[in-house]
Amino acid sequence: MSMKKFDPASNIQGLKQFGEFGGVNPSITDSSTFTFMTARTMLDTFHGDAEGCFLYARHWNPSNKYLADALAAMEGTESAWVTGSGMAAITTVFLQFCNTGDHIVSSITTYGGTYAFLKNYLPKFNIDVTFVDITDLDAVEKAIRPNTKMVYTETMTNPLLQISDIPALSGITKRHNIQLVVDNTFTPMIFAPFLLGADIVVYSMTKYINGKNDTIAGAICASNKFVLDITDVNDGTAMLLGPALDPLRSSSILKNIHTLHIRMKQHSKNGMHLAKRFRDIGLKYIYPGMPDHPQYELMKSMMNEEYGFGGMIAIDMETPERAATLMESMQLKNVGYHAVSLGYFKTLFSNSSKSTSSEVPKNVQHKMGMSPGLVRFSVGLDNDIEETFQLIKESVKELKA
Ligand code: PLP
Repeated sequence: MSMKKFDPASNIQGLKQFGEFGGVNPSITDSSTFTFMTARTMLDTFHGDAEGCFLYARHWNPSNKYLADALAAMEGTESAWVTGSGMAAITTVFLQFCNTGDHIVSSITTYGGTYAFLKNYLPKFNIDVTFVDITDLDAVEKAIRPNTKMVYTETMTNPLLQISDIPALSGITKRHNIQLVVDNTFTPMIFAPFLLGADIVVYSMTKYINGKNDTIAGAICASNKFVLDITDVNDGTAMLLGPALDPLRSSSILKNIHTLHIRMKQHSKNGMHLAKRFRDIGLKYIYPGMPDHPQYELMKSMMNEEYGFGGMIAIDMETPERAATLMESMQLKNVGYHAVSLGYFKTLFSNSSKSTSSEVPKNVQHKMGMSPGLVRFSVGLDNDIEETFQLIKESVKELKA
């Protein structure tokens, strides 16, 4: 019997979501509160027992439900919930699982904001975090304590582009009866972490999923039970801290998610082209799609090949000064923009140690192997990426001159 391969794009395409007047896009629900014909239904909705009914937009609203359903279809999870930022999604999951006195094991290479939350914010609640090299599975297992609630990682880590071995990590977390929470922001569609064994998948939708850099948003893809738990009116973290996404934004992201598969393929194609050309001119680069990457084989074994190795690539310019000169020159040549963030149609580049990882102390950056001159690229959708490469090459040459 041949098994039909998991296809996130077809799963989204397969949804029939349309507006109440037959609009091909679902109507935007521009209401914060909802009316009920009977008092009983309102009560049931409060208790999460009235399927299809909406109570109050901080809890759920129809526009967010359409987008959440598309995300659950993409990830293969039972359910999803959408948030006002990626950080809101991540912090909601941490705070839902952890109580005072609990412990988290986290990859040391994560987005700087996540690192800062774990390192500087959670101690307020007496929640302890051990940071580990996520590629060292023994170290991960050794860090687990009786009060550990979860292992947290990014499928492709920011900014070092290490690949987490999700099936192996899942084996460890299942053995210890704890959760595996994975941020898949860099690699939507390329990886399906839930199907690889993660319990919860989080996203900054600000990045590839929306792809337009016009909004901040996040998502939590999980079981029905977890989504009911976070939206519980009595003690749900999402319901009580209130990070709900605005329905207007949900509806625009829903339209953009329908082109995600095409965009991911082009980002990956361009990323691979630049990696090969960087190798040709002897630049020190990191790209998981090249056989010299330490987790190249692992990535191949986990990825949905159709979508390629992604559009994130980093080069080592050794010092922040050299990185700055290169980036300024590339911006003048319109290679792209010197800006943080990623997943945009234009190429974006920034010096990680001075930007998206600046929350990580210098000694920790050094320990994790992050060069102070690392320039992280989010490769755009350029139609002629060789032309873009030629511009980058000119900037590199100027630097050497
Ligand atoms: N996760 C990763 C991997 C990120 O790179 C970022 C932001 O750069 C976030 C989460 C946070 O997302 P947001 O800015 O949407 O809160």
